[in-house]
Amino acid sequence: MVAGSSVQAAEENAGKPAVALRKLGKTGLKVPVVSLGTGPGQEVNVMKFAIAQGMNFIHTSVGYKKGQSIQNVAEAIKGQRDKVVLGLKITWEPDDDQAMDKALETLGVDSADVAFFNIHEADQVRDPKYRRGAERWKKMGKFKHIGLTTHKETAECLKAGLDEGFYDVIMPSYTLSMEEEFLPIFERAEKAGLGIILMKTHKNLTGSEFEVTPHYLATTGITTINRGVSSFADIKKMIEASKAPLDKQAGIRLRASAQVAMSGHCRMCGECETACPQGFQVADVVRCSDYYLEHAEYVETAYDTYRGLARTPRTDLCGDCNLCERACRNGVPVAHHIRRAETVLA
Ligand code: SF4
Ligand code: SF4
Repeated sequence: MVAGSSVQAAEENAGKPAVALRKLGKTGLKVPVVSLGTGPGQEVNVMKFAIAQGMNFIHTSVGYKKGQSIQNVAEAIKGQRDKVVLGLKITWEPDDDQAMDKALETLGVDSADVAFFNIHEADQVRDPKYRRGAERWKKMGKFKHIGLTTHKETAECLKAGLDEGFYDVIMPSYTLSMEEEFLPIFERAEKAGLGIILMKTHKNLTGSEFEVTPHYLATTGITTINRGVSSFADIKKMIEASKAPLDKQAGIRLRASAQVAMSGHCRMCGECETACPQGFQVADVVRCSDYYLEHAEYVETAYDTYRGLARTPRTDLCGDCNLCERACRNGVPVAHHIRRAETVLA
């Protein structure tokens, strides 16, 4: 079911990192097995502390916290760019040089190590403009490697990305409950030499997120777990969790509880959205309601994301349709989420 990946204990004695490193596929980069995403509430000093502990892969985006996150990253890496592996999410068109330059300028760097196209529709992943953009920006030295990050139609987007063949890294949202569906994808990615970064791994796993870490790290092909961490204590817990031995009995229990925990919660497959005859962004609305509103620290993100959606469903326009809810194989009360988002976030 799962296979151990090549763990390289960080053996550099000088300034010995507290966290193990793994190769990020064929990129030639080595990154820590637990790494920093940049979510809400992250202080610059917490990031600096993480980097000092060896958690030196940081992924950021211009969009997080209305631009505050990327500025915090810039501050945290100032004077130590050489110690950091930098991931940057591209939220603009693949020919928009100005946006790319502005993001790099904000970060105070000449280039990113990995740039991630942020795509949530498999058909869009196949659009040749992304390959063209990636090749052009690579030639211009804007980044060294190209990644694909996705959290909607996730499995299909990843498969499309693998078919395209030019990605070096994939970064899906993923939890233990998705293992059966995603393992063949991870196996294929590993075989093709791609690095795999997991994000949003704690979704609906409250209470077991650190215990589950060794099980994620033992999954085929996984390089690192990337998550926003807002306290020194959680940095330490993440690192400790990454060193914990694999407990097979705990694995059985965690997998079973992950399935139960995910039942009725969104897996971000996007099928509800595909079913919507009005083209409403149903899955994004469910994400805002189901995920963000369940975590106090993400309420602002929920608000911003919802308000940024171009086509939110409205109950007065939906009528009795309910095709989205009927399309959901995970039993998510989609109509309830639409109503809740409309009430709380609009
Ligand atoms: S609500 Fe259901 S169908 Fe829609 S994205 Fe979530 S799991 Fe998939
Ligand atoms: S209920 Fe509304 S959001 Fe859902 S499928 Fe129908 S029109 Fe789309």
